[in-house]
Amino acid sequence: MSDFNYLLLWIALPAVLLAALLCIHSIAELVEKLKAYWIGRQPDIWQDHDLNLNGMRDPLTQLPNRSALMKKLQNAIRRAHASQSKVAVALINLDDFKPVKNTLHHLTGDAELKIIAKRLEASLRGADIACRIGGDAFLLLIQEVKTHQEIELIIQRLIDSLISPLNVNDHAINLSISVGIATYPAIPDTDHLIICADTAMYQAKSAGRNLYRFYDEEMGVAGDQLQEMQLDLKQALENNEFELYFQPKVDAQHGHIRGLEALIRWRHPVKGSILPTVFIQAAERFGLISRIHHWVVEECCRTMHRLRSQGLHTQISVNLAAQQLRDPALVHHIVELLDQFQLPHSCLVFEISGLMALKHPDIFNARMAEFQSAGIDIALDDFGITNASIAYLQKVQQVKLDRKITIKIADDKKSHEMTDALIRLAHSLDQIVVAEGIENEAQARCFRELKCDMMQGHLFGYPVSADKLAPLLEQRSAKVD
Ligand code: C2E
Ligand code: MG
Ligand code: MG
Repeated sequence: MSDFNYLLLWIALPAVLLAALLCIHSIAELVEKLKAYWIGRQPDIWQDHDLNLNGMRDPLTQLPNRSALMKKLQNAIRRAHASQSKVAVALINLDDFKPVKNTLHHLTGDAELKIIAKRLEASLRGADIACRIGGDAFLLLIQEVKTHQEIELIIQRLIDSLISPLNVNDHAINLSISVGIATYPAIPDTDHLIICADTAMYQAKSAGRNLYRFYDEEMGVAGDQLQEMQLDLKQALENNEFELYFQPKVDAQHGHIRGLEALIRWRHPVKGSILPTVFIQAAERFGLISRIHHWVVEECCRTMHRLRSQGLHTQISVNLAAQQLRDPALVHHIVELLDQFQLPHSCLVFEISGLMALKHPDIFNARMAEFQSAGIDIALDDFGITNASIAYLQKVQQVKLDRKITIKIADDKKSHEMTDALIRLAHSLDQIVVAEGIENEAQARCFRELKCDMMQGHLFGYPVSADKLAPLLEQRSAKVD
């Protein structure tokens, strides 16, 4: 071979190699594309008979179960990747399922779940799949969608079809659901899609009923914190880390103590004392509020029993979280505790936020009637800052004017006039008015002038632990001759 040919060979060889490499790369790309196309065109890896054979159905509703869902979801994601579309995972949770299950026969709950499963299936588009993933939680897998708007339409239609009233074993049941949605590719893996949909579902639940929420990043942070709180709260119940403090409510005209409000505190072993505003909502979310509440009422009864055995008679107010009113056995359990400690029912007053009444009038009215027939008084908390309607106002025996009203009363003429009107309104309904958060004499003077019945606030005493109550009541209760 001549030198010239050698030269040509040395130049041509790298060029040929480069071309070959480029060619291989394109072939690999082509293979990838073909694979994606093939996957995208594939039907699901299992069909109905596979579901039955492999125990992938929920025995009660016959819907696919959680394992089936995970497989479906993996497939859906592969297809969405190939077709550049979205997958949405919508977690659907019934809002009032537990109370319904407790009050009526157990079978009623099962029958309800079956009807919901049928409704879910009926509202599905061809490409979507509904599963039951446990208890009262269902999951909807929405495929072949390109935009959030498309998903929103599907979810709204679903909510509308699920919430029409049910008739189970001659019991009329009004359904309400909360839906949390997470989407692929924003959240790229199957496990996270379900966790994020769950977080969004709880956001929807706490925002009201029959709502849906899409997952966003900020919820993730809040979700992590709540997760930690859940574990801590469970431990708190087991390790007895809660304690009650009691704040005096004094007679506005004469200054003696007429009652006490029980305020819960959490002695966290690491974080120190935690206020209820921080943990009550989390306790509601994780279904721990009834156990906490039961402890609070029992502790109040024990304290009251001890005080009465020392000849000290008073009334204790107990705060109720909104969710507790949903429990049809609430009043029954309270009465049981009062009787167990041989206390008159009038010893306790329960404070309820006006917001609860507005959001769930049926539940509110039902509980009010039960409290009334048990001879237990109710106070409307946060009065004056939430839109309490007159209809609900008529059902309670006390109203508590919120601290936001107190703050303005001495300096703002309009607030003073409005408070005057509120107090007159409550008095016209034979109610006792308690002003909250009084910190100075000017505020106290205003409430006295407006004929408010009781006052509560740092000016008259900070919340104190149970062991300080006897000396406090001995000094400051009304002297009975
Ligand atoms: P609330 O029922 O309106 O209770 C009054 C809150 O105002 C209490 O806060 C009390 O410590 C505070 N306070 C009283 N006087 C003054 C004052 O003069 N100035 C100021 N700045 N604050 C004053 P706390 O104990 O942090 O409780 C906050 C809320 O947590 C309560 O509001 C109540 O809704 C809820 N809560 C407390 N204990 C319980 C409980 O056992 N169960 C439930 N479900 N909720 C509770
Ligand atoms: Mg209160
Ligand atoms: Mg209040």
